[in-house]
Amino acid sequence: MSVVGVDAGGTLTKIVYKENGRLHFKTFSSEQQENVLQWLTLLAKHHKLYITGGKAEKWGETFPQAHIVGEFIAVCSGAKLLLKEEKSDLKQFILINIGTGTSIFKVDENGCERLLGSGLGGGTFMGLGGLLTGESDYYELVRLSKEGKRELVDLSVRDVYEAMNSPVPEHLTASNFAKGDSSSKKEDKLRALTNMIAETIILLASQASQAHKLEHFVFIGSTLKSNPALKEDLTQFQELLSYTPIFPEKGAYAGSLGAFEIGREAEHSQNRQ
Ligand code: ATP
Ligand code: MG
Repeated sequence: MSVVGVDAGGTLTKIVYKENGRLHFKTFSSEQQENVLQWLTLLAKHHKLYITGGKAEKWGETFPQAHIVGEFIAVCSGAKLLLKEEKSDLKQFILINIGTGTSIFKVDENGCERLLGSGLGGGTFMGLGGLLTGESDYYELVRLSKEGKRELVDLSVRDVYEAMNSPVPEHLTASNFAKGDSSSKKEDKLRALTNMIAETIILLASQASQAHKLEHFVFIGSTLKSNPALKEDLTQFQELLSYTPIFPEKGAYAGSLGAFEIGREAEHSQNRQ
């Protein structure tokens, strides 16, 4: 029997399955439980469900025949597969999952270890972005942030030192949002928010990479979906902190693809017994 990989996250539920020899990828809002239920019910008729993510156990109650897959192993396996799909033979890297919150892992030949995490992530972009602008649609928030200039809201080292020589590069942020006021534009506030999330994630990831001597950062999670501003901001410290960023195209589906593959292998080895 074929399998379906489901990543039931805090914000979005991602589904991967194979039909007519081709992989299919679907995303639903985790809040729209009716839609998810409809799809899972339909797929469960002909597929075995392998579910990961924070809401996996909850769906396990509705589908008791479903297999629960650990979230860490699912995202790490999925990330490795995505890299392979993109013809990369990278074996050791720092994996950064920017979901509702952010988790950072070390991936190497020995497996996958969660190193640290932060509450700053896609949920912060949605929640704080909404509070700052009154907008609530993800794609609108992303569109606006792309147009913004963070230097109108953030205080830079250059702003502080003015014409004096500064001991650190002048373009660095001295204080996030310190120049913001009630006249700040939506676009500029959102770009400053995107940058604050990116800066924090890169600082955390670079601590992890220095401790483990890994220089490749692989980014996954739906927060990177159609979000060039975030990708650009995550790339900006490459020279200062010596890392190589990689953004697999289907990074939003790392967890669901990992669950799919783990399920596929489990079914395969069961059939051989
Ligand atoms: P977690 O892993 O932390 O439990 P999750 O798996 O639900 O959460 P992702 O699906 O990786 O997290 O990412 C969720 C984020 O993706 C949202 O917070 C938002 O920033 C962004 N996003 C992308 N597309 C959408 C969308 N259509 N609707 C809402 N948020 C979206
Ligand atoms: Mg997730």
